[in-house]
Order: sequence, then C-alpha cells, then structure tokens
Amino acid sequence: MSKIDQKHSNSKLPLRVGVTGGIGSGKTTVCRIFESLGVPIYYADDRAKAIMTENETVVKKVKELFGTQAYLANGTLNRPFIAGIVFHDKKMLESLNAIVHPAVFEEGERWNEEQTGAPYTIKEAALLFESGGYKKLDKVITVFAPQELRIERVMKRDGVSEEAVLARIKNQMADEEKIKLADFVIYNDGKHSLVQQIWQIHQEISSLADTKK
Ligand code: ATP
Repeated sequence: MSKIDQKHSNSKLPLRVGVTGGIGSGKTTVCRIFESLGVPIYYADDRAKAIMTENETVVKKVKELFGTQAYLANGTLNRPFIAGIVFHDKKMLESLNAIVHPAVFEEGERWNEEQTGAPYTIKEAALLFESGGYKKLDKVITVFAPQELRIERVMKRDGVSEEAVLARIKNQMADEEKIKLADFVIYNDGKHSLVQQIWQIHQEISSLADTKK
C-alpha cells in the first residue's frame, strides 16, 4: 500500500498537504494563491492563537502552567508575558506546545473532514517540520526565500529590528534541512514566478488525489 493509501483509508477525505517555511519566507502569500485556485486552507498558526483564548480546556491548562497573569482582564492572551517566559525557557515552550498543538491538530482534522468536495486541502504552519506535524500529512511544500530577503520583508511588514527577525530565524530549522524533508519547494526569491510554480504543484497534487479515488 502506498504512503498516501495508508493515510487515507477513507477515500472521500481530501489529501492533506502542508505548507511551511521560515519566518517571512512567504507561506501566507503562497497560500493566498492556492486559495484563489479554490484550495481550502487551514491557517494553523492563526488558529493556534485563537484557540488559546477560545478553547476553555486550553485556557485552563495555560493558566495552570503560567498563572492567571497569562490572560488580561478582558480575556485576551497576555502575549508579552508569555513570550517573555517561553523565549528564554525551552521547557516552558515545550509545555505550552504540548497544550496547544494537540488542540490545533484535532481542530484541523475535523476541519479537513468537512472539506469533502476538495481533492486536497492545505495546512499552513511555520513549524511543521520542527513539531513533527509533517508526518501526518500526505505531501509537504516548503517555501524558500533567501535570508536577507526574509529579514527585509519582515522588518517592513512588522516594523521590527533585524535582530528580532534573526532571533526568530535562529529558533527555526535550517532551510537546507526543510528542503531535504519537503516533497515540493517553492522558490519565493523574486526570480522565480510564484504563480507558475504553484500552478504546476496544484496540477500534480490534484492528479495524485484523482488516482487515489
Ligand atoms: P510568517 O512566518 O512571519 O508568518 P510568511 O512566511 O507567512 O511569514 P508572508 O507574510 O507571506 O510570509 O510574507 C512576508 C512579507 O513579505 C509580507 O509582507 C509579504 O507581503 C511579503 N512578500 C512575500 N512574498 C513576496 C514577493 N514574492 N514579493 C514581494 N513581497 C513579498
């Protein structure tokens, strides 16, 4: 049985494709183009942020881990407080991830089951390789852009310093590793056409999904 068949005992489910890449590589930009082709997208990082205030079980566990200071009086997450802790304490980051990742995964699975008409869906997440989440997907696309360009784009987008972007890059897996693990690479380096690359991958994955049915 092929890798895809093994993961898809229920053939009505869409194939599950991941889009990942380092900070500022262009994941969201790439996903917007897939979205324009009609591909349903689950923005896992955005949902993780939302789940941390919406999901009562998650909120309870986060408070147990960090104390009630983890949330502001209006119920929103006290991001600077949490970031201040997890940035310097790897164990606390792992504990936070152990609360949030399974909740996001479960929600993503339920969401995928609802996309019955689509040949494939995309899950966009920055740390698909680092978290091991890629193993549960059928195909993974990594978006590559040179570091200088990523730094420039994120500084402009978020109004942050070069040091702040570099600090986040340092916490992520190296691009070469991501490229080795990926099934497809999209080069968002200003030299290759994004639309052309995405169209080609879209055709390939759509026909894979067809042969599965
Ligand atoms: P993050 O990891 O921070 O969520 P990301 O990988 O999703 O980032 P985007 O938000 O898609 O990256 O892109 C980063 C910034 O670079 C955005 O402001 C986006 O508009 C810009 N950008 C991305 N690709 C291109 C491109 N090909 N040409 C011009 N600007 C681009």
